Parts: sequence; C-alpha cells; structure tokens
Amino acid sequence: MAPRPPTLGSAPAKPGRSSTPLEIVWPTFGLGGSDVEIAADVVIVGAGIMGVSAAYHLARRRAGRIVVLERDTVCSGSTALASGGIRHQYANRIGIELTRRSIVTYENFADEFGVDPQFRQHGYLILVSTAEELEQARRNVALQTSLGVDVQLLSPDQIERQYPYLSTRDLLGGTYSPRDGYADPYLACTAIAARARELGVVIKTGSEVTGVIRSDRGVERVVTRDGRVSAPVVVIAAGAWSGELGKLIGIDIPVSPRRRSKFITAAFPPDQIPATTPFVIDPHLGISMRREGAGLLLGIGRKDEASSFSTEPDWGLAEPLVERAIHRVPALADAELVRAWCGLYEMTPDQTGIVSAVPGVEGLYVIAGFSGHGFMHGPIAGQLMAELILDGRATTVDIAPLGLERFARGEMAVEPLTFV
Ligand SMILES: Cc1cc2nc3c(=O)[nH]c(=O)nc-3n(C[C@H](O)[C@H](O)[C@H](O)COP(=O)(O)OP(=O)(O)OC[C@H]3O[C@@H](n4cnc5c(N)ncnc54)[C@H](O)[C@@H]3O)c2cc1C
Repeated sequence: MAPRPPTLGSAPAKPGRSSTPLEIVWPTFGLGGSDVEIAADVVIVGAGIMGVSAAYHLARRRAGRIVVLERDTVCSGSTALASGGIRHQYANRIGIELTRRSIVTYENFADEFGVDPQFRQHGYLILVSTAEELEQARRNVALQTSLGVDVQLLSPDQIERQYPYLSTRDLLGGTYSPRDGYADPYLACTAIAARARELGVVIKTGSEVTGVIRSDRGVERVVTRDGRVSAPVVVIAAGAWSGELGKLIGIDIPVSPRRRSKFITAAFPPDQIPATTPFVIDPHLGISMRREGAGLLLGIGRKDEASSFSTEPDWGLAEPLVERAIHRVPALADAELVRAWCGLYEMTPDQTGIVSAVPGVEGLYVIAGFSGHGFMHGPIAGQLMAELILDGRATTVDIAPLGLERFARGEMAVEPLTFV
C-alpha cells in the first residue's frame, strides 16, 4: 500500500459487512459433512445484486427450488462497495436499454420490495474537455435521445450558471441526464434477497462453491465444502470471482478483477455544493464527485491499474485526486478526506456485462462482468437471466451484445463510458 499523504484524512475504513437479519438456516444442508447432497432446480453461485436478482425473478416465475450459494454473506462483494450510480449515459445501445428497464425498478423499489433504497435522482453530469470528447458526446446524446432518454448537451456557460461551483474554464461542455442519480446498493441488494426468500428461495451463506461436476451433456451438481447440490441449471453470479470459478469448471469466463478506490470527505457546507448536486463525472481528469450525506464521495481510478484481487484502498491516489478535484471544484480546497474504501470492478474485455448460456455446457449460465456498472443493471439483468433459463431466450431486451460467444468471435463493441 502506498503511504498516505500526511495532510489528508484519517484511517481508511470499509463500509460494514453484516449479514441480513432475515438469514434462514437450511437444516438439511451444512450440518452433515461433505457427503450431504440435496436437490434443487436452479443453483445460483453468489449473492450480490446479480445473484439475488436472478433468484428473485426465477422465484416470481415459479421456477421450482432455487438455491443461492454464497461464500460470505448476502451483499458482501462489489455490490456493497459500489457508489450506487444509476445512469442512462452510455455510448452503446445495450447499456442505455438496460438502464431504461432497471431505472423503473429503482423508481418503484419501495412498492415492489418494501424498502426505500434512497434513490436520489439528482441527475448525472458528464464533463467534456476535448474536441474528440465533444464529438463522442454528440453521438452519445443522439443515440440516447433516439432511445427515449432525457439528456442534453450543455455549454460551459450553461454549466457555470447551473453549477457555479464547477470551474468550466477548460471545458467544452457536459452531458446532463436529469432522471439519473444514485441509490444505496446494500439496501437494494438485501431487500431483493429478502423478497426472494419470501418467495421460497433458499440463500445459503458461508457456502463457498469449490467445483461444478459436469456430465457429457451438461451440469450435474455443485460442490461446496459442506456438501453438494444437484441441479440441472447452475448460474454463475460470482462477480469479480467469476473468471476464477470458470477456471474451476474448465470454461473461459473473461472476467477479471480491478480495484477501485473511493474517498469520503468530512462534512462540507451545502451552500457551496448543494445536496442536490448531480453525480459529476470528469472522464478527462478521471475523477467523480457526488454528495454522500453531509460529505462528498470522490472517486479516481488508474487507467493502467493491473488486474488484482487487492481491496486495499489506494492512498497513493489521494494526492492526484485532491489536486484534480480542486482544479474542477475550487471550493474543495477546504475539504478534508476522512476515509477511503476499495472494491473490485469485474471487468470484461469490452467493459460490458455477460448474461448468457455457456455454449456447449447444457444448463450452465453466467450473469457477471458488468465492469463497474452492475448495480444499476442488476434488476433487469436478473429478469433477463430468468427469461433465458425459462423461455430459452430473453425477450424484454435483445441481449446479443451480452452473449459469451462474442469474445471468441471478436464481436465486441467496447463501452467507453466506463470509468476505470
Ligand atoms: C468502488 C466501486 C464503485 C462502483 N460504483 C458503481 C456505480 O456507481 N454504479 C453501478 O451500477 N455499479 C457500480 N459498481 C459496480 C458494481 O458494484 C458491480 O458491477 C456489481 O455490484 C456486481 O454485482 P455482482 O452480483 O456481479 O457481484 P458481487 O456483488 O461481487 O457479488 C458476487 C458474490 O459472489 C460471491 N462468490 C464469489 N465466489 C464465490 C464462490 N466460489 N462460491 C460462492 N460465492 C462466491 C462473492 O462473495 C460475492 O458476494 C462499483 C463497484 C465498485 C467496486
């Protein structure tokens, strides 16, 4: 870990990881040693937003006995560590389509799941600094508008009028989508898990999957340290660990982990940066900012960050973050970084997720690799996975760009609006 700059903040801390109080003990499993075997219709590996959403949608459609096996606790992976951003602003159709469907779930979340996920629709503002970025922004806005998204390209003057705390002297504009915002990923994920349980899903925590046994035709059973679960359908929803799980099974799932650090400031006056400020992304400087309670949540990444499972906050980024943040928001000169956390992006080569059957292995599916934007796409991705399993194809959205085959065929359209 790089030494922390002496002037910046106190000890790094991660958000708490606690299991949901609704945890159900499944008496026939995990008590009898590794020779225990039970039967299910669907086994899902991983209880992050993807796993619980898939389980919920399968249970809604009465897909039989659904078992989720989670190594740690519900929402203990990347989902709990996400910034909660929900945005329509993508350069490719699939990202926009997925948000168009998911955002409806987040807007009506309390009705469906009985929990307020704190969805704050203060918009997303993505800043534009170069002529090349401006061209790309124009194309993005045209595509997003053609798909029904409320988004506009703002001039530097308009940005300055609406957000006077932003320095626009080196900007050519910014794209703003008012319906976007951010919600609380832990609340959302655990609420979906709780509703899935009410519908009969069994979520077994502390249950690491160590292998999947295959027959000539397809999947047969899932192996854990406590026992086995036989099932004709197995869904890999293991987030950044999906590639590793693929290796255990002998299939290539091109998902690799990349660490991403977030920094929180001490309370910052709302008369300088209002509570309703949008989620601001400055791709050119590689930083982001939104309100987090009384303070601010600041993000920064390294473009050359090597793949690793490290979740040590990268305090070496604090200095460039402060410098760039003050450049864009001069008032931040008075802000104090008080803590940081770090989680894993689950990157694919084209920075787009996977919702797919595994070619050649009957009954095996993958829902993973959303490359740093999976929280927002979790609700619709789970629904699409249920359609794929139960109907043989997804009908709500054309998911061809999410298929595993694209990697082997080299048919990839890289999503540039991924902030790594
Ligand atoms: C700092 C940060 C900020 C982010 N900000 C945003 C954002 O603003 N908006 C957004 O949409 N997304 C954001 N993301 C991305 C988002 O968090 C992920 O895309 C999403 O949470 C992935 O969900 P998942 O269910 O695939 O993975 P996870 O939430 O990681 O869940 C996978 C689960 O699988 C379990 N598991 C792994 N291996 C095994 C095994 N062998 N057996 C059993 N269980 C296993 C893990 O314990 C874990 O609980 C951010 C991510 C980070 C790190």
